[in-house]
Amino acid sequence: MIGSTRKSRTFVGIAASLSLMAAACGGTENSGAGDRTPAQGDCPVSPLDVVVSVDQWGDIVSQLGGACTEVTTVLAGSSVDPHDFEPAPSDAVAFEGAQLVVVNGGHYDEWATKLAETSAPDAAVVNAVDLAGGHADDHDDHDHDDPAHDDHDHSVNPHVWYRPDVVTAVADAVTAKLSELSADSAGYFTERRAEFAASMQRYDDAVAAIRTGAAGKRYAAVEGVFDDMAAALGLVNRTPQGYQVASNNEGEPSPADLDAFLTLLADRGVDVLIYNVQTEGSVPEQIRAAAEQAGIPVVEVTETLPPGAESFQDWQVGQLDSLARALGVGA
Ligand SMILES: [Zn+2]
Repeated sequence: MIGSTRKSRTFVGIAASLSLMAAACGGTENSGAGDRTPAQGDCPVSPLDVVVSVDQWGDIVSQLGGACTEVTTVLAGSSVDPHDFEPAPSDAVAFEGAQLVVVNGGHYDEWATKLAETSAPDAAVVNAVDLAGGHADDHDDHDHDDPAHDDHDHSVNPHVWYRPDVVTAVADAVTAKLSELSADSAGYFTERRAEFAASMQRYDDAVAAIRTGAAGKRYAAVEGVFDDMAAALGLVNRTPQGYQVASNNEGEPSPADLDAFLTLLADRGVDVLIYNVQTEGSVPEQIRAAAEQAGIPVVEVTETLPPGAESFQDWQVGQLDSLARALGVGA
């Protein structure tokens, strides 16, 4: 869902600095590809072997599993663009012996679903896109005669970690699977789930505050990673349709699409520009410059956990706080 900006993302530079950080800290959770979280005692039985495809989910699963899991996140540390990742034979090894595999699903990380099938055929699987239900829920609300809606009807936006309801559903499913796999640890996993809910309060509060204070405000985005969260916040997507269709279909926006975007910004037709800093290239740069020139606030978001984010909650709340400030919520 990155469009023309996809091939030039900045993941590689981040990887280099992150591996230095990991070395300096003596290894932290989720700090490098294929890292294994050390179990930290405390678990009454031997920990479950869990494999997660990407770190957007890996951190959540680690929080839920705690000491009663050993979590391997295959793509961690923003080292690789998940859209473009192709597993090496060594990545299959990570799946061997897995008792639970957590994938994003859809086309986002199909490699992980395939590796789970071949290397861990008996593992339980949690699939976030499946839990998101595609667009099955709201099919009836869509006008199928409108060709502009076709793409959205037939494929869910894969960035489902940006949907608060899906984060809750994945957390519930992970806790349920872990408890099934180790009945002796079920009480522990229930406690972890409650702690996770408590730690998500500031995320829930940030979402609620923006919904209350800024619903109906308009945004445009250089790409669609944040769109589902924006919808959950009640924001109105004013990204020019041609640009958005090109971007969602991984095509190059036409000069007319780009013009429409630049004009929208020059006319101050939106309240905020959402900018994925893991994209780079002349088109996003032009768009950002136009927003800045027009005095439209730019809010930075990322596809994956950025270096320095201590948790999913820290990452998401940081972004939501920036958005709230840009939209004049709270203060
Ligand atoms: Zn993406």
